[in-house]
Amino acid sequence: MRDDATFVGIEVDDAVAGDVELGRKLQEACPVDIYAAAESGVEIVHENVDECILCGLCIDASPPGTVQVHKLYSGEVLGAPS
Ligand code: SF4
Repeated sequence: MRDDATFVGIEVDDAVAGDVELGRKLQEACPVDIYAAAESGVEIVHENVDECILCGLCIDASPPGTVQVHKLYSGEVLGAPS
């Protein structure tokens, strides 16, 4: 799943988007509440996406390559699989 705001886009691999435990971890990790833990797994809170401070904590909290933060203004991607 992917949610683009104006400056930032958040992408969570569909393979892990249904992981309830990951939803909890991401909700806890993100300082600006871009993720919410739902019964269905990970939810992206659209109205908070542009508040992203590019800290990378969500990427550290998730399996490698499954969460990416797109800087829409520069094309740079945090957490891109290497
Ligand atoms: S990079 Fe930081 S602020 Fe941005 S979504 Fe991830 S945890 Fe939240």
